[in-house]
Formats: sequence, C-alpha cells, structure tokens
Amino acid sequence: MTTKDDIEEVLSTYDVDRISIAVLASHSALQILHGAKKEGMPTILIATPERKAFYENFSHLIDKTITVGSWRDICRYDIVERLQGVNAIMVPHGSMVEYVGPECLLNMRLPFFGSRRIMEVEASSKKKMELLRSGGIPTPKELSLNEDFEDLVIVKLPGAKGGRGYFVAKGRKEVQERLSGKKEVIIQEFLTGTRAYYHYFYSHVFKRLEILGMDIRYESNADSLGRLPMKGIEPTFTVVGNIPLVLRESLLPKVMEYGSRFVDATKGVEEDGIAGPFCLESIVKEDLSIVVFEFSGRIVAGTNIYTNGSPYSWLYWDEPMSMGRRIAREIVLARERGELGEILR
Ligand code: AMP
Repeated sequence: MTTKDDIEEVLSTYDVDRISIAVLASHSALQILHGAKKEGMPTILIATPERKAFYENFSHLIDKTITVGSWRDICRYDIVERLQGVNAIMVPHGSMVEYVGPECLLNMRLPFFGSRRIMEVEASSKKKMELLRSGGIPTPKELSLNEDFEDLVIVKLPGAKGGRGYFVAKGRKEVQERLSGKKEVIIQEFLTGTRAYYHYFYSHVFKRLEILGMDIRYESNADSLGRLPMKGIEPTFTVVGNIPLVLRESLLPKVMEYGSRFVDATKGVEEDGIAGPFCLESIVKEDLSIVVFEFSGRIVAGTNIYTNGSPYSWLYWDEPMSMGRRIAREIVLARERGELGEILR
C-alpha cells in the first residue's frame, strides 16, 4: 500500500518545475487536460489503442501519449516508471475507479491528486453508505430481508455500476421473488423528489470548501418513462448524460453543510481527509430536505458541463474555472507555496 512517505520519496526525485498532469483517456479527461493547459502544465494522456484515435482530435491539449494494452497496465512497473520520468501527477476519475480497481489504485507508486483510500471506500456500496452516515449526513432508510416491509425500494445488486443492475420493487415479497436467492444486496427506500448532484472542491491551499457546480444526471430509461404508459416497463438508471442545475439559493447553506460534514468524515479514512473534487448525490424532497444516496470521492463526469466555468465557480474565481482547471490551479498554487506534499496522496 502506497503511503504518504512513499509519495514524498517519489516527489523528491521530481523536477518540480516540470510537473505534468496524467489522466486516463476516458470520463472527464478532456476537461482535465484542457484545465491543465490553461494553467500552463504539461499533460500526459494514457490511452488504450481503441481510445487513441478519438483523443488525437484534441492533440493540442496533449503533450505526450502513453499507450497501454489495457487499463490495468497502468499498474505495471515500467509504465509507472515512465510516468515518474515525466514528473507525472495522476488525476483519477470515475473510469479509473471502475476499470483499474482499488488494489492498483492503492499500490501505484505515483503521486495522485485525489484520495485513493476514499476511492477504495467508494468501490464498496456498504462502506460508502457507512462513511456518509458516520458524517451525520442524511441517507435513505435501509431495509433488510430479515424484516417485513411494504415500502417502495430500490435494490442495488453487488457490482452494479452506474445504475445498471438496479431494480425498483414494492415490499419484501416482491424483492425476495426478484432476487431469487441473491443475498449481498443493498435495499434502500426509493426516494421521490428531484435529483441534484453537487460538485465540491476541498482546497487544502485555502482551507476551504468550494461548491463549483451541480447537475442532474439524465438516466435511461427512467427519465423518459413520463412519456409512456408505465405498465410493464421497468425503470433503469444508466447515465446517458448530464443537465446543468442551479439550486434555490436558500438550499445552498445545507449543501455546503453536508459537503463540510463529508470532508470531516473523510479524515477517518485518510490522513488530513479528502483533497480536491468530490460529489454528493442527492434527492431534494418535497419538503426541501436533502437526502444523500451516494458519493463519488473524485471528479464526476457531470462537471463536463462546465468546461468554461459554472454559475457557482464564477462566484469564487471571476474567471472561467472548470473542475479540471481548478485541479491544476491547486497544484500550481501548492507548488508555489512549497506545499505539494500536503495536497498529493
Ligand atoms: P447510484 O448508482 O447510487 O448513483 O444510483 C443510480 C441512480 O439510481 C441515481 O442517479 C438515481 O436516479 C437512482 N437512485 C439511486 N438510489 C436511489 C434512491 N435511494 N431513491 C431513488 N432513486 C435512487
């Protein structure tokens, strides 16, 4: 497992003036590369052969491409060594959590701007909900097949990702029938209300939490069912895209409070807690209470809406500030202050 001391050791071999940002060719890579360039940083794209051709359309954002046979190759010693050789800081995103897996994330001897231990928690549905609850953040009621219930629930099967492999059912009997013996599931109260996904950035340089944007995920086919007679059609929740959102301003203090609670909770997982981007995924209920059903401990793809900044990022920065650019800005500022060791994990 890579420790803070390991990262310090790798950093001590780096030419700090020539630090580069490395990213896998997927998820929010274009925005991260664009942001790095805006802040004058060299960029490294790690691509599989199938992805390479598409990303070449954006060659003005990429200083160097490292081609790997498969995503997991990034954990290979020779690839890590090449990345160290160009003073790379890895910016992990959702595809990295999904395709590379927690073991490689935890062991890779490369500085990350991102919290690997929190991403490990993210990879486990149960640990994820425990972390939210430990921070005192309201979460959906969880139900168990050991007791009878009549509630409308969403059932999340192990390994289900991005809403695929979930189903909605009413009452224990229906859940049992549809699970046909599978046990390791999360059964959550199905929350009705409006979805809202908040994009936060915790800055160790400024010791402050920023709300940089928010979105609603557009999910197939749940988001089109309103146009159809429902009978016999199951809602599914595969994310297809993202829609911008601004919230009633009176809800922002609560959004900020839950974000701060999350930052505090992460101090129990990783020394000094989370650094940089994360997202709380919520339902705003009819009574305007907010219930968080999920988090992402890294940049989310919903930030791709705001390559030129969001209505919120302007309030802090008064210049176009995407999440990708904010990441690069934090690295540049920490470098100027000699604080890289404090923001890298
Ligand atoms: P997740 O994989 O937890 O992000 O969930 C995927 C999608 O399922 C979400 O974006 C929501 O649309 C829906 N969803 C997840 N949990 C709940 C819940 N407890 N109540 C209502 N909808 C949910």
